[in-house]
Amino acid sequence: MTRIVNCVMHAGMTVSHLTTRFAPSPTGWLHLGHAHSALTAFRTAQDLNGQFLLRMENIDPSRCRPEYEAAIFEDLAWLGLSWESPVRRQSEHAPYYAAGLARLSALGVLYPCFCTRRDIATEISRMGFAPHAGETLPYPGTCRNVPPEDAAQRMADGQPYALRINVARALSITGPLSWLDAQAGPQKAMPARLGDAILARKDVPMSYHLCVTMDDALQGVTHIIRGHDLFEATHLHRLLQALLGYDAPQYRHHPLLCNENGQKLSKRDGAITIRDLRAQGLCPADVRARAGIADR
Ligand code: GLU
Repeated sequence: MTRIVNCVMHAGMTVSHLTTRFAPSPTGWLHLGHAHSALTAFRTAQDLNGQFLLRMENIDPSRCRPEYEAAIFEDLAWLGLSWESPVRRQSEHAPYYAAGLARLSALGVLYPCFCTRRDIATEISRMGFAPHAGETLPYPGTCRNVPPEDAAQRMADGQPYALRINVARALSITGPLSWLDAQAGPQKAMPARLGDAILARKDVPMSYHLCVTMDDALQGVTHIIRGHDLFEATHLHRLLQALLGYDAPQYRHHPLLCNENGQKLSKRDGAITIRDLRAQGLCPADVRARAGIADR
């Protein structure tokens, strides 16, 4: 019989040592969905004697604001969470992400993409697809086969470009991949479902997918506990981990808190924020209960 020292099963996760995290983007006030996610990860770390990290995913200068970041610290502390110091702020580590891109580029799995949103929409409709409202179809691959000398010329001419991953080429290097989700069970990684995603944007030379993967590895995150809305992204993160030589963490994508209409809470739709609830005079235990995390 295999024996794993200090190993505990927790809600489907195998744990010998656990480091988990909450990684918000300071682009708005935290709402109950964020509180649910943060508390789920924090409680798991507490239960299993693990570490809980907080990371600011603030690479987008046009959307992130210092007052949102300050409110995240304040709301989470008010809710009873504590975290390790220092807090990593992605905006302070551009050279680290650039080094990751350079490694991927050396593997030959990146290509420049000059398409605008309109180019992509035109190409998708030319191919006969009609996305439904709110649906984003995978990139149709327009720039994948631009001859390298043309691409180099366009870059030299100063045309803005993003860097995309050539998923088929990347998979031909890594071979088939899998990952384990404590909620959904073993998963075969299918990054092609997301298409050739952007790893460096036109405006900032990095992306959520690149930075989250590199930081979870750097910070020794063993268990990624986050909402089901990021389940699909994990297929791509697994591919990036394999390309960059990282071990796969375990995952738990928890169900999302929904409003009365069954839709996921979102900052864009004006979901009720933690600071509103505080201003209404609720106490932390009330807000934790509304976030679906009962006190014990
Ligand atoms: N920064 C991402 C967000 O706020 C979450 C990242 C993650 O948990 O992987 O949606």
